[in-house]
Amino acid sequence: MKTAKARTQKSKKTKKAASCDSFPGVKALFDQYVVPSYGRFEIAFARGSGSHLWDVNGNRYLDMGSGIAVCALGHAHPEIAETLRDQAMRLVHVSNLYYHEWQGRLAQKLVGHLSPGKVFFCNSGAEANEGLFKLARRFGHDEGRFEILTTFNSFHGRTLAGISATGQEKVKKGFEPMVAGFRHVPFNDLQAMRDAISPATVAIMIEGVQGEGGVTPAKPEYLLGLRQLCDERGLLLLMDGVQCGYFRTGRFQSYQRLLENVTGADTFVPDGVSMAKSIAGGFPMGAFWVRDRHADLLGPGQHASTFGGTPLACAVALKVLDVVERDRLADNARQLGGQIMDELKNLAQRYPNVLREVRGLGLMIGIELVDKQSIPAFAGETKSAAALFVARLQQAGVLTVPAGTQVVRLLPPLNLKPADAEEALSAIKRVVKSLA
Ligand SMILES: *Cc1c(COP(=O)(O)O)cnc(C)c1O
Repeated sequence: MKTAKARTQKSKKTKKAASCDSFPGVKALFDQYVVPSYGRFEIAFARGSGSHLWDVNGNRYLDMGSGIAVCALGHAHPEIAETLRDQAMRLVHVSNLYYHEWQGRLAQKLVGHLSPGKVFFCNSGAEANEGLFKLARRFGHDEGRFEILTTFNSFHGRTLAGISATGQEKVKKGFEPMVAGFRHVPFNDLQAMRDAISPATVAIMIEGVQGEGGVTPAKPEYLLGLRQLCDERGLLLLMDGVQCGYFRTGRFQSYQRLLENVTGADTFVPDGVSMAKSIAGGFPMGAFWVRDRHADLLGPGQHASTFGGTPLACAVALKVLDVVERDRLADNARQLGGQIMDELKNLAQRYPNVLREVRGLGLMIGIELVDKQSIPAFAGETKSAAALFVARLQQAGVLTVPAGTQVVRLLPPLNLKPADAEEALSAIKRVVKSLA
């Protein structure tokens, strides 16, 4: 609620033409000065706390998207804020011409969560994948192999190599020619992957759970089959864990969760894993891990990033790991995510004329809607069913993220509270009922 004082301040400021404490004021700045490369919802945020955000008009929202799986500990987490301040007072950046303890300690921790290997630090998911593409090219270079196979509906970032790797036409359109050496095959189809391998193929990259493509988990036998295929044909198996990784599914990486209790899976290790989004809880950072046998493929001068792995970013990422471990947030993702999923599956059974399917793992949940023509309130609208559903939820005070035209994603903070989950579920139920 706004205080009387806040209201008086506001009325004073409204004399200025583009007051930034109103949505039109903020939007006017974007319209004039920001490259319009995003389709944005009509909300401007002012602050956040935990799983909640407040817009410039003082409206409160439950954030079930956490900035697209980024704010793993929610907003304005006191320990993240404290670490940012303390590290900023000590050391922010020195460049990768030198050593510092935070990068080494973070790499050690990440290796501990994966398997023996080494880590390279960068600043985003696209860059993390780019590093893996370069690793693969180095790996195959002397044999003239360079081709990387990925899957349809994948998403690997927005750089030129990223859109070339991404198995979705919409991100490529208008930017041709693509970077050479990427081909796509259907996801979860081992035979298609086997058939696609050519003498030039050097690696396969997949997401353990496709995110942008609509929250589709890989089948355990697909993962095991890909590992075997890569071993037989001398290919690297690269996993894009930018969205589905970092404890979101209930384990550090999605393949660890997907392969739990699967026979023959205990020796499964990918050759490379990319990370970003949640890694520093909202502070920009990316990284890739590479398995020990390939860990020295990229030597001095062969790959670099000015900002990669600064003392500040690494200190924050170390704090995120501390909090995730201390507060058992992987277990929270697994349990609370499982409960939300069960409830949503029940809802889908009760309202098959609105919801087609609910999929996912842990706190990465996709709600697939039926075609918009089948939902009377949506038929005739120009926006996609997913965008329209997300907008309805926003009106009900809950933020979610569309994936394609049919799927709405829940990617809440990993420290989501049961009461927050209840709040989200009751809003979703209300919206679904209103559409039925
Ligand atoms: C978000 C995402 C990326 C790209 O990350 P950026 O930080 O936006 O470059 C790559 N892969 C997956 C699976 C993602 O979800």
